[in-house]
Amino acid sequence: MYRRPDGIVDFDKEICIGCKACIAACPYDAIFINPEDHSAEKCNFCTHRLEVGLEPACVVVCPTEAILIGDLHDPQSRVSQYVNRDVVAVRRPEKETLPKLFYKGAHQATLDPLAAQRPEGGIFLWSEQGTGVVSGHPAQANNVAAAMLSYDVPHSAPWGLPVSLYVWTKSIAAGAYLVASTLVLLGLTDVAGVLWRWKTPLISAVFLALTFALLIGDLEHPARFYMILTRPQWRSWLVRGGVILGAFSALVAVHIFWAPAALAFIGIPLAIATGTYTAFLFAQAKARDLWQSPLLLPQHLLACVVAGSAALLIVGRLDLAMPMAIATATHLMLIAAEVVTPHPTAHARLAVREMVRGKYRFAFAAGWMLQLLGIGFVQFGTVAAIFILMGLLAYEHAHVGAAQQVPLA
Ligand code: SF4
Ligand code: SF4
Repeated sequence: MYRRPDGIVDFDKEICIGCKACIAACPYDAIFINPEDHSAEKCNFCTHRLEVGLEPACVVVCPTEAILIGDLHDPQSRVSQYVNRDVVAVRRPEKETLPKLFYKGAHQATLDPLAAQRPEGGIFLWSEQGTGVVSGHPAQANNVAAAMLSYDVPHSAPWGLPVSLYVWTKSIAAGAYLVASTLVLLGLTDVAGVLWRWKTPLISAVFLALTFALLIGDLEHPARFYMILTRPQWRSWLVRGGVILGAFSALVAVHIFWAPAALAFIGIPLAIATGTYTAFLFAQAKARDLWQSPLLLPQHLLACVVAGSAALLIVGRLDLAMPMAIATATHLMLIAAEVVTPHPTAHARLAVREMVRGKYRFAFAAGWMLQLLGIGFVQFGTVAAIFILMGLLAYEHAHVGAAQQVPLA
């Protein structure tokens, strides 16, 4: 996706890797993956027609001139006159996209997908206002609160289970190295011992390999993955994350052949960056308010400590049971804070509701139950660690999925 000199956002299907980050970022649900060529597409203002002096196809074909295009910088253009003199509305100005698509005379219920109620059970039928009861409240004629969505198209979430899994495997890879490096620097483990020499780099290597496999496998064009490095767009956290993952992988590779204590000094910042860059990647998905939370970064860092302690405990470092339980309890407190504190937007509130009481309630409840069981059975060591790791995965799945449940269009 790129912005042309004339301001139009256009796309190049030949170099799209199909990461779906643009879909997660668009607050208007205007981007989709073409199922035939697996590249991202959107309205591009019919640039091929504009370039030869024609108007967009939708403008030409509309029999009532319901769509107008023009130059907003030209005060004489018809769109400028409408925008400057009439009451017009834009969608989601709070996202600071400075939208240039203006609606004249549109009712809020048609612009905001949250303004109309969604029918129970997701069954869309034409509905009559003024009679009956809608979601427990008496419906009133001509009342926007009684507006009922009557037709919708499927909106599949761009990021699904592979993304939740990738966050989880990455937490284990980075967390194991982070915790082991901390033990080395505190003098709590022998550098020549099997934990630092073999177990730590092997856990990180295996889970990094899984992370890469999930990341690349989730792309619509996996064979184009290398383009992240050959033509990077440095503002993208996918690119920054790719570089961080590459640097961390190089460190782990060195560790397998040569493991001085000094690696711990480089390992701690690299493992933290590996474990937490996803918080910035999610925050870049502007469309999803749940991921704009300032708690996301500490949550990812704590998830790393939890996952790393659990992984090292499973391979024999039993004295990590109590630190793991404390980190898990703190992580759960952060999650609780996210759920119970007031949410700045309706989108964030609805996403939390989807997570706690909606589609992802079972994954969310499983996440809590398993982590609490892990804390409760901390004296059983490995069993507790397995509970906690499973609980962490269930929570990640609920968090990733619920944020994408709020309708954008
Ligand atoms: S590479 Fe990713 S962000 Fe860029 S257009 Fe394709 S799907 Fe969208
Ligand atoms: S016809 Fe209209 S909506 Fe479709 S791409 Fe062209 S300008 Fe966009």
